[in-house]
This record gives sequence, structure tokens and C-alpha cells, in this order.
Amino acid sequence: MHYLAESNRVIIVGIPGVGKTTVVSRVVELLKEKNVKVSVSIFGTVMFNEAKKKGVQNRDDLRKLSVKEQRELQSMAARTIASISDDVVIVDTHAFISTQEGFYPGLPNHVLEILNPDSFIMISARPEEIYNRRMTDTSRTRDIVSIDTIKKELDVTSAMLSTCSILCGSPIKMVLNTEGKVDEAAKGILSAMGFNNGT
Ligand code: ATP
Ligand code: MG
Repeated sequence: MHYLAESNRVIIVGIPGVGKTTVVSRVVELLKEKNVKVSVSIFGTVMFNEAKKKGVQNRDDLRKLSVKEQRELQSMAARTIASISDDVVIVDTHAFISTQEGFYPGLPNHVLEILNPDSFIMISARPEEIYNRRMTDTSRTRDIVSIDTIKKELDVTSAMLSTCSILCGSPIKMVLNTEGKVDEAAKGILSAMGFNNGT
């Protein structure tokens, strides 16, 4: 009899500019060196691909849609991601999105039920570093906010993520993405996935 091993589904969250996409790219390189089949879904990009059909032209305009529209797009994106069956399935996303209506959860229960994650990683960094990364990264249109607001965003992320952890019964690991130390952060994520250095 042949058994298919299940995917290890990991959701990685962090506020804009904390370095999720940078660190996750390094995680993928390290996993490929180990011949692990891995896929990364940037939740916002998967949503954007659906939103384009409705006329949204810029990825950074998604958060300006009504909560109702964002909710529908989230479900569609979650279903697309849930159909992936690689050894490791990584989702790069936000615990919340700042909308005109307030903090909106990136991982509401209806999305978690579809994604069914095994674990959560919260990427964090010093507020000053996050501020500088947002200011200097010209490839994206990020809302520029004060250091105090960034501290608040980090707090809201961990509050939202605790609830996700309780709903799914899946652990959270906090990983610090220190300036110039992407490798260290990536290795922290690998160890949370059960891959130890050198194995
Ligand atoms: P978003 O949620 O908006 O997609 P993100 O969390 O994916 O943001 P990145 O795009 O990965 O953030 O990183 C933001 C900027 O910070 C990029 O210019 C990236 O090169 C830089 N950066 C990320 N991590 C580090 C690090 N450890 N040291 C120095 N620069 C970094
Ligand atoms: Mg990103």
C-alpha cells in the first residue's frame, strides 16, 4: 500500500516591511538544497490575481477595497493555496490589514478552516528597522507611519495570531529578522519546521 505524506503547512505573518518575503526566499533556497519540495504563496498576490478580474490594477490597492470584497477574495485565495500539496507549503501573509473600517484580520476563521495550517511563524524586527525598510524599499507602495504606530501594529499582529493559534491548535514561533541577518531568521524558521542545521 502506498501512503502519501501530508504537506507541512506553515503560515508566516508579519507587518509590512518586516522582511517576510526576503526571509522566506532564503528559507526556500535552504529547503531546495535539502531536496524538499516547497511552494510559497504570497497571499496578497494570490488575492490580487483574483482581484485583477474585477478591475483592481495595483496590488497595494487591495486594502482599499471594502471589507466585503476583501473577504470574498480571501476565500478564493485560500482555496487556491489549499489545493497545493508540496512537502512544505508556505503562506506569506499579514495577521491584519489596516482598512478604513479598522484592523481587518488577514486570517479570519473561514480562511483558517480552508488553509488548515500546522504552524504559525511571526516575523518581527526592531520598529526603527521596519520604519527604515519601508522608507528605503522603492519597489512597493507602503503606507508610511510613525514608529509608535509600527509598535502598535506589532502588538496587533501578536494579538491576532494568538487567536489563530487557539482556533487551529497550532503553535506560534516568533522569529526576529535583525538587520543584515536574514540567514539567522531563515534558519530559525527551518528549525521550527523540524529541519535542523546540517540535516
Ligand atoms: P510586505 O508585507 O509589504 O510584503 P515584507 O514583510 O515581505 O513586506 P520585504 O519586502 O521582504 O518585507 O522587505 C522589506 C525591505 O526590507 C526590503 O527592501 C528588504 O530588502 C529589506 N530587508 C528585509 N529583511 C532585511 C534584513 N534582515 N536586513 C536588511 N534588510 C532587510
Ligand atoms: Mg512581502
